[in-house]
Amino acid sequence: MERRTFLKLAGAAAAGASVNAVAATLPWQRTARPADVVVIGAGAFGGWTALHLREMGHSVTLVDAYGPGNARATSGDETRQIRVGYGDREVYSRWVMRGMELWREREREFGRTLLSNAGRLQLATEFNAGLRASRDVFSRLKVDHEVMTAADMRRRWPQLEPGEMSAGLYEPGAMIVRAHQACVAVAEAASRKGVQLVAGRAQPGRPTGTALAQLALQGGGSLSGASYVFACGPWLPRLFPDLLDGKLLTPRREVYYFGTPAGDDRFNCPNLPVFSEASHYGFPSVDGKGVKVCPTRGDADADPDNDERIVTPHQVARSREYLARRFPGLKGQPVVETRVCQLENTADEHFLIQRHPGWSNVWIAGGGSGHGFKHGPVVGEYIAERVLGRRSDPELEALFRLKA
Ligand SMILES: Cc1cc2nc3c(=O)[nH]c(=O)nc-3n(C[C@H](O)[C@H](O)[C@H](O)COP(=O)(O)OP(=O)(O)OC[C@H]3O[C@@H](n4cnc5c(N)ncnc54)[C@H](O)[C@@H]3O)c2cc1C
Repeated sequence: MERRTFLKLAGAAAAGASVNAVAATLPWQRTARPADVVVIGAGAFGGWTALHLREMGHSVTLVDAYGPGNARATSGDETRQIRVGYGDREVYSRWVMRGMELWREREREFGRTLLSNAGRLQLATEFNAGLRASRDVFSRLKVDHEVMTAADMRRRWPQLEPGEMSAGLYEPGAMIVRAHQACVAVAEAASRKGVQLVAGRAQPGRPTGTALAQLALQGGGSLSGASYVFACGPWLPRLFPDLLDGKLLTPRREVYYFGTPAGDDRFNCPNLPVFSEASHYGFPSVDGKGVKVCPTRGDADADPDNDERIVTPHQVARSREYLARRFPGLKGQPVVETRVCQLENTADEHFLIQRHPGWSNVWIAGGGSGHGFKHGPVVGEYIAERVLGRRSDPELEALFRLKA
């Protein structure tokens, strides 16, 4: 079998793939032996699924068009938060509690610093239903938390000015995960354990009756497996338009990293927590990258392949104004880096994990809906068990089914 590096492949027009420097070290191929399962997409959902399937003893091919955690993918940013606070969606809080342990174990196994303890502060104008629901779940699950007034917040973080936000809920155990690095680490571990990595864009090929026989690779070639898991994030509606058009939405999101003043570590992790309120959320500076600020709104539909990742000046101005209000010490600081990303939202923001209605050996896994990354280690295991027919949990199956 021909083995080349991903870097060489990037030069080959047939591959139709670009590369990031870290993924270039992985042994990407253009083809693979038939496998028990072919996973399409090496983001948070697909990468962890491939790793778990392999660890459960199955032969696996993992194919990606642009590489794990690439700049177009939803998993591609520097950082993602891991928090138990989920309002009344306790099922996800429970998954996060298990996930936090798994993340720590995997961090040790991968030998990379992927996690930072940051804590997370939710702010609101009053102690509203969302905060109450999170607080109740924290109490039930015995998760450390603190209900705060504006005065408490000012005392704890003098660099933060809560303004009209008179209520706070603090989760000290919340973490930040280095998202891009984690995707690469998962693909590396998968490869080390025998997963075949293929660089290429896959399309469902010929169906045989009610099963899919193979995948066609753009530019030539094919891949085959007994089962297929399409974990293609915001690309899913493009692959399965009949099923997902209008049901999995891909709104564009802008992310800004604002510089911190020279020699001032008040805005670095862990001196400032992850912060979240109705209009914006953000992260303290991690690895000197700057304070990350993300507006929560914006409905323009994104094209993950072709959109230019250039931010809009009026949105930057709004976020700069927000930042100056909430963190007066950051007033006037420059934007030092930006990202433009897209969500992959289901109508109810629950994950989408189900068998394809027409093809018995095809699974669709995605719909992270702005909160999927942190669940990687748990959701990957869950998807692997569903595909292998080892898990039956009607409540979860109903939750993760595409709603009409
Ligand atoms: C701005 C923003 C902030 C977020 N913050 C958080 C957070 O703090 N915490 C959290 O837990 N979650 C967060 N999320 C959500 C989380 O990032 C996503 O739910 C998760 O990364 C989705 O992963 P995925 O594997 O489904 O998709 P992706 O990461 O997009 O992966 C899909 C992969 O499939 C590949 N692909 C697509 N089509 C093909 C094809 N035909 N052939 C081969 N490969 C293909 C792509 O190249 C890509 O690598 C956030 C999302 C956004 C946009």
